[in-house]
Amino acid sequence: MKIKRVAIVGGGTAGWLAANHLGVELSRDPDIQITVIESKDIPVIGVGEGTVPQIKTTLKKFGISEIDLLSSCDATFKQGIKFANWMSTEKYGADHFYYHPFSSPYPSGFDVTNYWLNNKSSFEFSKLSEIYLVAELNRSPKQKSSPPYMGMVDYAYHFNAAKFSDLLARNAREKFSVRHIVETITQVLCHEDGYIKGFVYESGNEEEFDFFIDCSGFSALLIGNTLGVPFLDKSTRILTDTALALQEPTAESDEIQPYTLATAHKAGWVWDIPLTTRRGVGFVYSSKHMSESEAVDSFSTYVGRDLQNANLRRVPMKIGYRESFWEKNCAALGLAQGFVEPLEATSILVTDFSAQLLARSFPKTKDDIAAVSAYCNRVASYTWDRVIDFVQFHYFISDRRDSMFWRDNTETTMISDVLKERLDMWKIAPPKKTDFFSAFDIFGVENYLFVLYGMDYPTRPGVLGANEESRAKELVRDVQDKSLQMGNSLLSHRVWLSELKRALASR
Ligand SMILES: Cc1cc2nc3c(=O)[nH]c(=O)nc-3n(C[C@H](O)[C@H](O)[C@H](O)COP(=O)(O)OP(=O)(O)OC[C@H]3O[C@@H](n4cnc5c(N)ncnc54)[C@H](O)[C@@H]3O)c2cc1C
Repeated sequence: MKIKRVAIVGGGTAGWLAANHLGVELSRDPDIQITVIESKDIPVIGVGEGTVPQIKTTLKKFGISEIDLLSSCDATFKQGIKFANWMSTEKYGADHFYYHPFSSPYPSGFDVTNYWLNNKSSFEFSKLSEIYLVAELNRSPKQKSSPPYMGMVDYAYHFNAAKFSDLLARNAREKFSVRHIVETITQVLCHEDGYIKGFVYESGNEEEFDFFIDCSGFSALLIGNTLGVPFLDKSTRILTDTALALQEPTAESDEIQPYTLATAHKAGWVWDIPLTTRRGVGFVYSSKHMSESEAVDSFSTYVGRDLQNANLRRVPMKIGYRESFWEKNCAALGLAQGFVEPLEATSILVTDFSAQLLARSFPKTKDDIAAVSAYCNRVASYTWDRVIDFVQFHYFISDRRDSMFWRDNTETTMISDVLKERLDMWKIAPPKKTDFFSAFDIFGVENYLFVLYGMDYPTRPGVLGANEESRAKELVRDVQDKSLQMGNSLLSHRVWLSELKRALASR
Protein backbone atom coordinates (compact mmCIF):
# COMPACT_ATOMS: atom_id res chain seq x y z
CA MET A 1 0.00 0.00 0.00
CA LYS A 2 1.40 3.38 -1.03
CA ILE A 3 2.35 5.83 1.72
CA LYS A 4 0.31 8.94 0.99
CA ARG A 5 -0.59 10.71 4.23
CA VAL A 6 2.46 11.94 6.18
CA ALA A 7 2.04 13.55 9.61
CA ILE A 8 4.76 15.69 11.15
CA VAL A 9 4.06 16.20 14.86
CA GLY A 10 5.59 19.50 15.99
CA GLY A 11 5.81 23.02 14.65
CA GLY A 12 9.27 23.90 15.95
CA THR A 13 12.47 24.21 13.92
CA ALA A 14 12.65 20.42 13.50
CA GLY A 15 9.05 20.04 12.29
CA TRP A 16 9.34 22.78 9.69
CA LEU A 17 12.80 21.70 8.52
CA ALA A 18 11.31 18.24 7.98
CA ALA A 19 8.29 19.69 6.16
CA ASN A 20 10.54 21.56 3.72
CA HIS A 21 12.90 18.63 3.12
CA LEU A 22 9.96 16.31 2.47
CA GLY A 23 8.36 19.03 0.36
CA VAL A 24 11.47 19.23 -1.85
CA GLU A 25 11.58 15.45 -2.36
CA LEU A 26 7.90 14.48 -2.37
CA SER A 27 5.75 17.38 -3.51
CA ARG A 28 6.10 16.30 -7.15
CA ASP A 29 3.81 13.36 -6.30
CA PRO A 30 0.22 14.66 -6.17
CA ASP A 31 -0.89 11.61 -4.11
CA ILE A 32 1.26 12.62 -1.13
CA GLN A 33 -0.02 15.06 1.46
CA ILE A 34 2.23 16.36 4.23
CA THR A 35 0.56 17.71 7.38
CA VAL A 36 2.27 19.55 10.25
CA ILE A 37 0.40 19.33 13.55
CA GLU A 38 1.28 21.61 16.43
CA SER A 39 -0.28 22.40 19.74
CA LYS A 40 -1.07 25.95 20.75
CA ASP A 41 -0.71 24.88 24.40
CA ILE A 42 2.68 23.18 24.15
CA PRO A 43 5.22 25.85 23.28
CA VAL A 44 8.28 25.31 21.12
CA ILE A 45 11.57 25.29 23.01
CA GLY A 46 12.36 28.75 21.63
CA VAL A 47 16.16 28.51 21.88
CA GLY A 48 18.50 27.32 19.13
CA GLU A 49 19.76 30.46 17.47
CA GLY A 50 23.23 29.46 16.26
CA THR A 51 23.93 27.51 13.07
CA VAL A 52 26.79 26.21 10.91
CA PRO A 53 27.40 26.93 7.20
CA GLN A 54 25.49 23.86 5.98
CA ILE A 55 22.30 25.83 6.67
CA LYS A 56 22.99 27.99 3.59
CA THR A 57 22.84 24.96 1.29
CA THR A 58 19.60 23.88 2.90
CA LEU A 59 17.91 27.28 2.65
CA LYS A 60 18.94 27.62 -1.00
CA LYS A 61 17.49 24.19 -1.68
CA PHE A 62 14.20 25.23 -0.04
CA GLY A 63 14.09 28.27 -2.31
CA ILE A 64 14.34 30.75 0.58
CA SER A 65 16.12 33.97 -0.34
CA GLU A 66 18.96 35.12 1.88
CA ILE A 67 17.41 38.58 2.08
CA ASP A 68 14.19 37.08 3.44
CA LEU A 69 16.13 35.26 6.11
CA LEU A 70 18.16 38.33 7.08
CA SER A 71 15.20 40.69 7.12
CA SER A 72 12.56 38.50 8.75
CA CYS A 73 14.56 36.67 11.43
CA ASP A 74 16.71 39.48 12.98
CA ALA A 75 19.58 37.43 11.58
CA THR A 76 23.29 38.20 11.79
CA PHE A 77 26.31 36.48 10.29
CA LYS A 78 28.28 33.91 12.23
CA GLN A 79 31.83 33.25 11.03
CA GLY A 80 32.65 30.75 13.75
CA ILE A 81 32.92 30.42 17.50
CA LYS A 82 35.26 32.35 19.75
CA PHE A 83 36.18 30.21 22.76
CA ALA A 84 37.26 32.20 25.82
CA ASN A 85 38.70 30.77 29.06
CA TRP A 86 38.67 27.13 28.00
CA MET A 87 42.24 26.71 29.28
CA SER A 88 44.01 27.41 32.55
CA THR A 89 44.14 31.15 33.19
CA GLU A 90 47.34 30.66 35.18
CA LYS A 91 49.11 29.35 32.11
CA TYR A 92 47.34 31.22 29.30
CA GLY A 93 46.26 34.49 31.01
CA ALA A 94 42.86 35.79 32.10
CA ASP A 95 41.69 36.84 28.64
CA HIS A 96 42.94 33.98 26.44
CA PHE A 97 40.78 32.80 23.57
CA TYR A 98 40.88 30.89 20.31
CA TYR A 99 38.62 30.66 17.28
CA HIS A 100 36.95 27.74 15.63
CA PRO A 101 36.30 29.58 12.36
CA PHE A 102 34.26 28.31 9.43
CA SER A 103 37.26 27.83 7.19
CA SER A 104 40.09 25.52 6.39
CA PRO A 105 43.52 25.88 8.01
CA TYR A 106 45.11 24.63 4.78
CA PRO A 107 46.07 27.75 2.77
CA SER A 108 45.77 26.94 -0.96
CA GLY A 109 45.05 23.36 0.11
CA PHE A 110 48.56 22.93 1.59
CA ASP A 111 48.88 21.29 5.01
CA VAL A 112 50.92 23.74 7.12
CA THR A 113 50.18 22.05 10.45
CA ASN A 114 53.66 20.63 10.84
CA TYR A 115 55.14 24.04 10.08
CA TRP A 116 52.89 25.54 12.75
CA LEU A 117 53.82 22.85 15.28
CA ASN A 118 57.46 23.77 14.75
CA ASN A 119 56.75 27.51 15.10
CA LYS A 120 53.80 27.65 17.45
CA SER A 121 55.29 30.21 19.79
CA SER A 122 55.29 32.76 16.96
CA PHE A 123 51.60 32.74 15.96
CA GLU A 124 48.26 31.27 17.03
CA PHE A 125 46.75 28.41 15.04
CA SER A 126 43.47 30.35 14.59
CA LYS A 127 45.42 32.87 12.54
CA LEU A 128 45.63 30.30 9.75
CA SER A 129 42.16 31.56 8.94
CA GLU A 130 41.38 35.04 7.57
CA ILE A 131 38.33 34.89 9.80
CA TYR A 132 40.42 35.51 12.91
CA LEU A 133 41.05 39.14 12.00
CA VAL A 134 37.77 39.74 10.15
CA ALA A 135 35.89 38.54 13.24
CA GLU A 136 38.07 40.41 15.74
CA LEU A 137 37.38 43.61 13.80
CA ASN A 138 33.61 42.88 13.75
CA ARG A 139 33.52 42.91 9.96
CA SER A 140 30.77 41.48 7.77
CA PRO A 141 31.79 38.36 5.81
CA LYS A 142 30.13 39.82 2.71
CA GLN A 143 30.77 42.80 0.51
CA LYS A 144 27.81 44.87 -0.65
CA SER A 145 28.09 43.20 -4.04
CA SER A 146 28.48 39.61 -2.76
CA PRO A 147 25.96 37.22 -4.37
CA PRO A 148 23.33 35.61 -2.12
CA TYR A 149 24.71 32.97 0.22
CA MET A 150 28.33 33.86 -0.63
CA GLY A 151 30.91 35.94 1.16
CA MET A 152 34.61 36.78 1.16
CA VAL A 153 34.86 34.24 4.00
CA ASP A 154 32.44 31.46 4.88
CA TYR A 155 29.65 32.02 7.36
CA ALA A 156 26.42 30.76 8.89
CA TYR A 157 23.78 32.73 10.81
CA HIS A 158 22.43 33.61 14.20
CA PHE A 159 18.68 34.15 14.12
CA ASN A 160 15.56 34.48 16.23
CA ALA A 161 14.41 30.84 16.61
CA ALA A 162 10.69 31.60 16.59
CA LYS A 163 10.95 33.84 13.53
CA PHE A 164 13.06 31.22 11.76
CA SER A 165 10.36 28.57 12.34
CA ASP A 166 7.76 31.02 10.97
CA LEU A 167 9.85 31.58 7.84
CA LEU A 168 10.24 27.84 7.28
CA ALA A 169 6.49 27.35 7.89
CA ARG A 170 5.53 30.03 5.37
CA ASN A 171 7.85 28.51 2.80
CA ALA A 172 6.56 24.95 3.32
CA ARG A 173 2.93 26.05 3.03
CA GLU A 174 3.44 28.27 -0.01
CA LYS A 175 6.00 26.28 -2.03
CA PHE A 176 5.15 22.70 -1.12
CA SER A 177 1.46 23.00 -0.15
CA VAL A 178 2.13 21.57 3.29
CA ARG A 179 -1.05 21.44 5.37
CA HIS A 180 -0.82 22.99 8.84
CA ILE A 181 -3.20 22.27 11.69
CA VAL A 182 -3.19 23.50 15.26
CA GLU A 183 -4.44 20.70 17.52
CA THR A 184 -3.16 19.00 20.65
CA ILE A 185 -2.78 15.24 20.28
CA THR A 186 -4.30 13.58 23.34
CA GLN A 187 -4.13 9.96 22.21
CA VAL A 188 -2.04 8.02 19.72
CA LEU A 189 -3.82 5.12 18.01
CA CYS A 190 -1.95 2.02 16.83
CA HIS A 191 -2.61 -0.94 14.53
CA GLU A 192 -2.38 -4.48 15.88
CA ASP A 193 1.18 -4.86 14.59
CA GLY A 194 2.28 -1.81 16.61
CA TYR A 195 2.47 0.53 13.62
CA ILE A 196 0.99 3.94 14.37
CA LYS A 197 -2.44 4.56 12.90
CA GLY A 198 -3.47 8.09 13.87
CA PHE A 199 -4.43 10.54 16.55
CA VAL A 200 -7.25 11.69 18.74
CA TYR A 201 -7.11 15.46 19.10
CA GLU A 202 -8.20 17.53 22.08
CA SER A 203 -11.06 18.87 19.96
CA GLY A 204 -12.41 15.31 19.82
CA ASN A 205 -11.57 14.86 16.12
CA GLU A 206 -9.66 11.79 14.96
CA GLU A 207 -7.36 11.53 11.99
CA GLU A 208 -5.39 8.70 10.35
CA PHE A 209 -2.05 8.85 8.52
CA ASP A 210 0.31 6.35 6.86
CA PHE A 211 3.67 7.67 8.09
CA PHE A 212 4.66 9.75 11.11
CA ILE A 213 7.53 12.10 11.88
CA ASP A 214 7.98 12.83 15.55
CA CYS A 215 9.21 16.40 16.02
CA SER A 216 7.47 16.82 19.37
CA GLY A 217 10.60 17.99 21.20
CA PHE A 218 11.99 16.48 24.40
CA SER A 219 8.60 14.81 25.13
CA ALA A 220 9.17 12.39 22.21
CA LEU A 221 5.46 11.68 22.00
CA LEU A 222 5.65 8.98 19.32
CA ILE A 223 9.16 7.51 19.28
CA GLY A 224 9.43 7.40 23.08
CA ASN A 225 5.97 7.35 24.66
CA THR A 226 4.12 5.33 22.00
CA LEU A 227 6.77 3.10 20.45
CA GLY A 228 8.99 2.80 23.52
CA VAL A 229 12.30 3.16 21.66
CA PRO A 230 14.94 3.41 24.43
CA PHE A 231 16.79 6.68 24.99
CA LEU A 232 20.56 6.16 25.17
CA ASP A 233 21.60 8.47 27.97
CA LYS A 234 25.01 10.07 27.41
CA SER A 235 25.14 12.22 30.52
CA THR A 236 28.24 10.38 31.74
CA ARG A 237 30.12 11.83 28.78
CA ILE A 238 28.53 15.28 28.49
CA LEU A 239 28.16 16.59 32.04
CA THR A 240 26.24 19.82 31.40
CA ASP A 241 22.50 19.30 31.90
CA THR A 242 20.86 22.70 32.46
CA ALA A 243 20.73 26.07 30.74
CA LEU A 244 19.51 29.46 31.95
CA ALA A 245 18.49 31.53 28.94
CA LEU A 246 18.16 35.29 28.80
CA GLN A 247 17.50 37.91 26.15
CA GLU A 248 19.50 41.12 26.52
CA PRO A 249 18.46 44.25 24.60
CA THR A 250 21.07 45.99 22.46
CA ALA A 251 21.28 49.49 21.02
CA GLU A 252 21.24 50.29 17.26
CA SER A 253 24.70 51.77 17.67
CA ASP A 254 26.26 48.66 19.27
CA GLU A 255 28.78 46.71 17.23
CA ILE A 256 27.62 43.21 16.31
CA GLN A 257 30.12 40.41 16.81
CA PRO A 258 30.11 38.11 13.77
CA TYR A 259 30.66 35.01 15.92
CA THR A 260 29.18 33.10 18.83
CA LEU A 261 31.14 33.84 21.97
CA ALA A 262 31.50 30.72 24.15
CA THR A 263 33.02 31.62 27.51
CA ALA A 264 33.88 28.76 29.84
CA HIS A 265 33.20 29.02 33.57
CA LYS A 266 33.69 26.74 36.58
CA ALA A 267 30.90 24.32 35.68
CA GLY A 268 30.17 24.83 31.97
CA TRP A 269 30.07 27.79 29.61
CA VAL A 270 28.03 30.80 28.47
CA TRP A 271 26.75 31.30 24.94
CA ASP A 272 26.48 34.85 23.69
CA ILE A 273 24.67 35.17 20.38
CA PRO A 274 24.13 38.60 18.82
CA LEU A 275 20.99 39.29 16.76
CA THR A 276 20.20 42.64 15.15
CA THR A 277 17.76 43.54 17.93
CA ARG A 278 19.09 41.76 21.03
CA ARG A 279 21.59 39.23 22.34
CA GLY A 280 20.60 35.70 23.27
CA VAL A 281 22.72 34.72 26.26
CA GLY A 282 22.66 31.34 27.96
CA PHE A 283 24.40 29.92 31.00
CA VAL A 284 25.04 26.21 30.44
CA TYR A 285 26.08 24.23 33.51
CA SER A 286 26.17 20.90 35.26
CA SER A 287 23.63 20.85 38.09
CA LYS A 288 25.74 18.17 39.79
CA HIS A 289 28.62 20.62 40.02
CA MET A 290 26.84 23.94 40.59
CA SER A 291 23.64 24.90 42.38
CA GLU A 292 21.07 27.07 40.61
CA SER A 293 21.74 30.02 42.90
CA GLU A 294 25.51 29.81 42.22
CA ALA A 295 24.69 29.63 38.52
CA VAL A 296 22.53 32.76 38.72
CA ASP A 297 25.32 34.59 40.62
CA SER A 298 27.92 33.58 38.09
CA PHE A 299 25.59 34.47 35.19
CA SER A 300 24.96 37.88 36.84
CA THR A 301 28.70 38.51 36.90
CA TYR A 302 28.88 37.63 33.19
CA VAL A 303 26.12 39.99 32.08
CA GLY A 304 27.11 42.71 34.56
CA ARG A 305 23.80 43.01 36.46
CA ASP A 306 21.91 41.14 39.16
CA LEU A 307 19.75 38.41 37.61
CA GLN A 308 18.10 37.14 40.82
CA ASN A 309 14.76 38.64 39.74
CA ALA A 310 15.36 38.61 36.00
CA ASN A 311 13.21 36.74 33.53
CA LEU A 312 15.56 33.74 33.20
CA ARG A 313 14.29 30.63 31.46
CA ARG A 314 15.54 27.44 33.03
CA VAL A 315 15.90 24.70 30.38
CA PRO A 316 16.74 21.18 31.55
CA MET A 317 18.72 19.30 28.86
CA LYS A 318 18.39 15.57 28.24
CA ILE A 319 21.72 14.46 26.79
CA GLY A 320 21.63 11.42 24.53
CA TYR A 321 19.75 9.99 21.58
CA ARG A 322 17.21 7.33 20.64
CA GLU A 323 18.59 3.84 20.05
CA SER A 324 16.91 4.02 16.66
CA PHE A 325 15.44 7.22 15.26
CA TRP A 326 13.24 5.28 12.83
CA GLU A 327 10.96 2.57 14.18
CA LYS A 328 8.12 1.02 12.16
CA ASN A 329 6.24 3.84 10.38
CA CYS A 330 7.71 6.62 12.55
CA ALA A 331 10.95 8.59 12.36
CA ALA A 332 11.99 11.12 15.01
CA LEU A 333 13.82 14.37 14.31
CA GLY A 334 15.05 17.29 16.41
CA LEU A 335 14.95 17.05 20.18
CA ALA A 336 12.70 13.97 19.97
CA GLN A 337 15.59 12.18 18.25
CA GLY A 338 18.36 13.38 20.56
CA PHE A 339 20.34 16.30 21.90
CA VAL A 340 23.91 17.05 22.94
CA GLU A 341 24.11 20.45 24.66
CA PRO A 342 24.43 23.57 22.45
CA LEU A 343 28.23 23.85 22.16
CA GLU A 344 29.14 23.94 18.43
CA ALA A 345 25.45 24.30 17.45
CA THR A 346 25.08 20.64 16.50
CA SER A 347 21.32 20.24 16.97
CA ILE A 348 19.90 22.06 13.94
CA LEU A 349 22.75 20.55 11.92
CA VAL A 350 21.91 16.95 12.89
CA THR A 351 18.19 17.63 12.42
CA ASP A 352 18.81 19.07 8.99
CA PHE A 353 21.06 16.16 8.07
CA SER A 354 18.63 13.51 9.36
CA ALA A 355 15.61 15.19 7.73
CA GLN A 356 17.41 15.18 4.41
CA LEU A 357 18.44 11.55 4.87
CA LEU A 358 14.84 10.61 5.62
CA ALA A 359 13.40 12.64 2.75
CA ARG A 360 15.82 11.12 0.23
CA SER A 361 15.20 7.58 1.46
CA PHE A 362 11.48 8.06 1.97
CA PRO A 363 9.66 4.71 1.56
CA LYS A 364 7.01 4.43 -1.15
CA THR A 365 5.19 1.59 0.61
CA LYS A 366 5.10 -0.09 4.01
CA ASP A 367 7.17 -2.95 2.55
CA ASP A 368 10.08 -0.58 1.83
CA ILE A 369 10.41 0.49 5.45
CA ALA A 370 12.51 -2.35 6.92
CA ALA A 371 15.43 -1.98 4.50
CA VAL A 372 15.70 1.82 4.44
CA SER A 373 15.11 2.28 8.16
CA ALA A 374 17.89 -0.17 9.06
CA TYR A 375 20.34 1.80 6.90
CA CYS A 376 19.20 5.22 8.16
CA ASN A 377 19.37 4.09 11.78
CA ARG A 378 22.97 2.94 11.33
CA VAL A 379 23.90 6.28 9.78
CA ALA A 380 22.16 8.30 12.50
CA SER A 381 23.78 6.37 15.37
CA TYR A 382 27.22 6.82 13.83
CA THR A 383 26.57 10.54 13.39
CA TRP A 384 25.41 10.98 16.99
CA ASP A 385 28.44 9.14 18.35
CA ARG A 386 30.81 11.37 16.42
CA VAL A 387 28.92 14.54 17.44
CA ILE A 388 29.24 13.48 21.09
CA ASP A 389 32.98 12.86 20.55
CA PHE A 390 33.40 16.31 19.06
CA VAL A 391 31.53 18.15 21.82
CA GLN A 392 33.13 16.12 24.62
CA PHE A 393 36.65 16.65 23.38
CA HIS A 394 36.37 20.44 23.92
CA TYR A 395 36.15 19.67 27.63
CA PHE A 396 38.35 16.59 27.73
CA ILE A 397 41.53 18.15 26.32
CA SER A 398 41.38 21.29 28.46
CA ASP A 399 44.11 21.82 31.04
CA ARG A 400 41.64 23.51 33.44
CA ARG A 401 41.65 21.82 36.85
CA ASP A 402 40.19 24.65 38.92
CA SER A 403 36.90 22.92 39.87
CA MET A 404 35.44 19.46 40.27
CA PHE A 405 33.58 19.98 36.95
CA TRP A 406 36.83 20.41 35.01
CA ARG A 407 38.54 17.58 36.87
CA ASP A 408 35.59 15.26 36.17
CA ASN A 409 35.69 16.25 32.48
CA THR A 410 39.41 15.93 31.97
CA GLU A 411 40.14 12.90 34.14
CA THR A 412 37.28 10.77 32.89
CA THR A 413 37.70 7.36 31.27
CA MET A 414 34.24 7.70 29.69
CA ILE A 415 35.31 8.54 26.15
CA SER A 416 34.59 6.50 23.07
CA ASP A 417 37.20 4.13 21.63
CA VAL A 418 37.17 6.18 18.42
CA LEU A 419 37.94 9.43 20.22
CA LYS A 420 40.58 7.77 22.40
CA GLU A 421 42.32 6.26 19.40
CA ARG A 422 42.24 9.56 17.54
CA LEU A 423 43.60 11.57 20.46
CA ASP A 424 46.38 9.02 21.06
CA MET A 425 47.28 9.14 17.38
CA TRP A 426 47.23 12.95 17.32
CA LYS A 427 49.91 13.04 20.03
CA ILE A 428 52.25 11.38 17.54
CA ALA A 429 51.22 13.27 14.39
CA PRO A 430 48.60 15.90 13.56
CA PRO A 431 45.19 14.89 12.17
CA LYS A 432 44.92 14.28 8.45
CA LYS A 433 41.91 14.21 6.15
CA THR A 434 42.29 10.45 5.84
CA ASP A 435 41.76 9.96 9.60
CA PHE A 436 38.06 10.56 8.90
CA PHE A 437 36.74 7.59 6.93
CA SER A 438 33.08 8.42 6.77
CA ALA A 439 31.00 11.07 5.03
CA PHE A 440 28.83 10.92 8.15
CA ASP A 441 31.53 12.20 10.50
CA ILE A 442 29.99 15.70 10.21
CA PHE A 443 33.01 17.25 11.94
CA GLY A 444 36.19 16.63 10.00
CA VAL A 445 39.87 17.45 10.04
CA GLU A 446 39.45 21.27 9.81
CA ASN A 447 37.14 21.37 12.81
CA TYR A 448 39.38 19.16 14.92
CA LEU A 449 42.54 21.05 13.96
CA PHE A 450 41.21 24.44 15.06
CA VAL A 451 40.01 23.13 18.41
CA LEU A 452 43.02 20.88 19.10
CA TYR A 453 45.56 23.59 18.49
CA GLY A 454 43.42 26.40 19.83
CA MET A 455 43.76 24.39 23.04
CA ASP A 456 47.47 23.70 22.59
CA TYR A 457 47.14 19.93 22.18
CA PRO A 458 50.58 18.36 22.57
CA THR A 459 51.30 16.84 19.15
CA ARG A 460 54.91 15.89 18.50
CA PRO A 461 56.21 18.16 15.70
CA GLY A 462 57.58 16.32 12.65
CA VAL A 463 60.86 17.14 10.95
CA LEU A 464 60.34 19.92 8.38
CA GLY A 465 61.79 19.61 4.90
CA ALA A 466 63.39 22.81 3.50
CA ASN A 467 60.83 23.03 0.69
CA GLU A 468 57.95 22.38 3.03
CA GLU A 469 59.19 25.10 5.35
CA SER A 470 59.61 27.80 2.70
CA ARG A 471 56.29 26.97 1.01
CA ALA A 472 54.44 26.99 4.36
CA LYS A 473 56.10 30.26 5.40
CA GLU A 474 55.02 31.91 2.17
CA LEU A 475 51.44 30.61 2.47
CA VAL A 476 51.11 31.73 6.09
CA ARG A 477 52.30 35.20 5.05
CA ASP A 478 49.67 35.19 2.28
CA VAL A 479 46.91 34.42 4.81
CA GLN A 480 48.11 37.28 6.99
CA ASP A 481 48.21 39.72 4.05
CA LYS A 482 44.76 38.62 2.89
CA SER A 483 43.39 38.99 6.42
CA LEU A 484 44.68 42.56 6.65
CA GLN A 485 43.26 43.39 3.25
CA MET A 486 39.86 42.03 4.23
CA GLY A 487 40.00 43.70 7.63
CA ASN A 488 40.60 47.02 5.87
CA SER A 489 38.09 46.64 3.07
CA LEU A 490 35.06 44.83 4.52
CA LEU A 491 32.27 46.89 6.09
CA SER A 492 31.49 46.62 9.75
CA HIS A 493 28.94 43.88 10.44
CA ARG A 494 26.47 46.36 11.95
CA VAL A 495 26.85 48.78 9.01
CA TRP A 496 26.32 46.01 6.43
CA LEU A 497 23.11 44.86 8.13
CA SER A 498 21.82 48.43 8.68
CA GLU A 499 22.43 49.30 5.04
CA LEU A 500 20.48 46.23 3.97
CA LYS A 501 17.61 47.30 6.23
CA ARG A 502 17.68 50.84 4.81
CA ALA A 503 17.75 49.55 1.23
CA LEU A 504 14.77 47.26 1.88
CA ALA A 505 12.80 50.05 3.57
CA SER A 506 13.28 52.35 0.57
CA ARG A 507 12.07 49.77 -1.97
C1 LIG B 1 19.51 25.40 25.89
C2 LIG B 1 19.47 25.04 24.43
C3 LIG B 1 20.20 25.79 23.50
C4 LIG B 1 20.20 25.44 22.15
N1 LIG B 1 20.98 26.13 21.25
C5 LIG B 1 21.10 25.67 19.99
C6 LIG B 1 21.93 26.30 19.03
O1 LIG B 1 22.56 27.33 19.30
N2 LIG B 1 22.01 25.77 17.80
C7 LIG B 1 21.33 24.65 17.45
O2 LIG B 1 21.51 24.15 16.34
N3 LIG B 1 20.46 24.09 18.31
C8 LIG B 1 20.33 24.55 19.55
N4 LIG B 1 19.47 23.95 20.41
C9 LIG B 1 18.56 22.92 19.91
C10 LIG B 1 17.36 23.59 19.21
O3 LIG B 1 16.67 24.40 20.14
C11 LIG B 1 16.42 22.53 18.63
O4 LIG B 1 17.15 21.68 17.77
C12 LIG B 1 15.34 23.16 17.81
O5 LIG B 1 14.72 24.21 18.47
C13 LIG B 1 14.33 22.13 17.41
O6 LIG B 1 13.43 21.83 18.45
P1 LIG B 1 12.24 20.85 18.11
O7 LIG B 1 11.52 21.38 16.93
O8 LIG B 1 12.77 19.47 18.04
O9 LIG B 1 11.31 20.90 19.40
P2 LIG B 1 10.36 22.06 19.99
O10 LIG B 1 10.82 23.41 19.61
O11 LIG B 1 10.26 21.76 21.45
O12 LIG B 1 8.95 21.82 19.30
C14 LIG B 1 8.06 20.80 19.73
C15 LIG B 1 6.76 20.94 18.96
O13 LIG B 1 5.98 19.78 19.20
C16 LIG B 1 4.64 20.17 19.44
N5 LIG B 1 3.99 19.15 20.29
C17 LIG B 1 4.50 18.51 21.36
N6 LIG B 1 3.58 17.69 21.88
C18 LIG B 1 2.46 17.79 21.12
C19 LIG B 1 1.15 17.23 21.16
N7 LIG B 1 0.80 16.37 22.13
N8 LIG B 1 0.25 17.61 20.23
C20 LIG B 1 0.58 18.48 19.24
N9 LIG B 1 1.80 19.04 19.15
C21 LIG B 1 2.72 18.72 20.09
C22 LIG B 1 4.74 21.51 20.15
O14 LIG B 1 3.55 22.27 20.04
C23 LIG B 1 5.91 22.14 19.36
O15 LIG B 1 5.40 22.75 18.20
C24 LIG B 1 19.43 24.33 21.74
C25 LIG B 1 18.66 23.61 22.66
C26 LIG B 1 18.69 23.93 23.99
C27 LIG B 1 17.90 23.11 24.97
